[in-house]
Amino acid sequence: MSTKSREVVQGGRIMGTDIHAKAARETAQKAIREADRAEAEQWSVRMEGYGGPAQPAPTIAQCLNGGLGWLEVECNRCKTRASLPLDAIRRPQDTPIWKLEASSKCRSCKKGRSAPPVRMIKLTAVRAITPYKWVHPDEER
Ligand SMILES: [Zn+2]
Repeated sequence: MSTKSREVVQGGRIMGTDIHAKAARETAQKAIREADRAEAEQWSVRMEGYGGPAQPAPTIAQCLNGGLGWLEVECNRCKTRASLPLDAIRRPQDTPIWKLEASSKCRSCKKGRSAPPVRMIKLTAVRAITPYKWVHPDEER
């Protein structure tokens, strides 16, 4: 066997293990994504169907990874609802989403620094309601 053909054989083996590692990694990522989605959906069903408890909650990263990137909230006073985009919230990705409730405020009910509390309704995959009336959690930082 010449040096040349040994390199070819060796190269083929390395390529084979690369493909295997890549496939295994993709399988693992898919499993994590499914687990994240399941956790986010479970939280969403608990909130919408039973009104909580809000804790424990999935993290921002888990919701985004699971494909549920919108948090729907409702103002306790005027009952206006809004969808907040989780990918635009500048918080650490490992922040549990129940922490976002305290920082979300309804723009039409807000007076100075005080605002009535909001209630988290559910997570959605797409924007359900236009958030124009709402103060984004980041706007007041
Ligand atoms: Zn309101």
